[in-house]
Amino acid sequence: MTAQQIIKWYKENKRELPWRNTRDPYRVWLSEIILQQTRVAQGLPYYEKFVKAFPTVYDLAKAPQQKVLKLWQGLGYYSRARNLHEAAKFVVKECKGIFSSDYEDLKKLKGVGDYTAAAISSFCFGKPHAVVDGNVFRVLSRLYAIDTPINSGPGKKQFTQLANELLDKKDPGTFNQAIMEFGAQYCVPANPDCGNCVLKNKCLVGSTGKASQFPVKAGKTKVRTRHFEYFFISAKGKTFIEKRGAGDIWQGLYQVPMFEFPKKTSKKLIINRLYAEFPKIGEKGIELKAVTGIRKHQLSHQTILARFWQINLTSSQNLYNYTKIDLKNLKKYPFPVLIGNYLREITIFE
Ligand code: SF4
Repeated sequence: MTAQQIIKWYKENKRELPWRNTRDPYRVWLSEIILQQTRVAQGLPYYEKFVKAFPTVYDLAKAPQQKVLKLWQGLGYYSRARNLHEAAKFVVKECKGIFSSDYEDLKKLKGVGDYTAAAISSFCFGKPHAVVDGNVFRVLSRLYAIDTPINSGPGKKQFTQLANELLDKKDPGTFNQAIMEFGAQYCVPANPDCGNCVLKNKCLVGSTGKASQFPVKAGKTKVRTRHFEYFFISAKGKTFIEKRGAGDIWQGLYQVPMFEFPKKTSKKLIINRLYAEFPKIGEKGIELKAVTGIRKHQLSHQTILARFWQINLTSSQNLYNYTKIDLKNLKKYPFPVLIGNYLREITIFE
């Protein structure tokens, strides 16, 4: 399984860093704030200076702001230092000096967003929240050949969902650190060594020589070809749909579960990804009934090449992030023509 392979790689290859030897949320928080927009080599001496000057959150809270900013000097993005100081005061005054283990509570601290809250809650308290930083975007976009721009709303949602699906729920902290370290040290931005990679048999991009093209960032609008694989899934009279979000075509319309690929992809790899994304289904619970050929759907700036898979689940199940509805209610929802035509063909729609 991918998670265990990444963790194994991590245990054998990780760098020894001081914040990896502690579960003290104060120190982990400090390291995470320092490392935002900062390389480890540059951040490390600052972390050591801060821990020495302010060994506890109480010491940081009672320090004058000037001293905090002085210590931060040279690291840039000074709002981080100001937020750090404010947050320390908040923890002391409002939380009796104790960092909450709760993801949402942590986000109430100034300067703590989704990423830092996930890092603290998983590293220190073993809470199942996936971190999604630049390294995680890179590794996941390559493993699954996802070309949804990472700087788009749908991209963030898609990668966060996938990272949470892959998360090792028994040891989320180690998994999170492992995937970030793997991205930082091995699956690097330019020319990673795919030939010797422990994940080369699982990776959809590694063997194509195009790793450096992932992840994709949104830039200028241009005509592009997209490859959609749709899954019409029925499970004991129910099926699954989701509403398309902002920032992409067909906003507000509905669709059946789907994956997008940057190029034509073999059925075997698509099935593998289906299992990876929907681990709760399990291979034995899936019955593949039919699959169509590839259909072309032309939009003004995009060519959609789509394929439809008809799948039965042998038991009633839920799919993460999808709405489960009665099959007979499917026709109440608005779908893009492409999907509506398919549902009509298989007589779901009259
Ligand atoms: S095969 Fe290459 S692109 Fe894929 S995970 Fe490994 S290093 Fe990254």
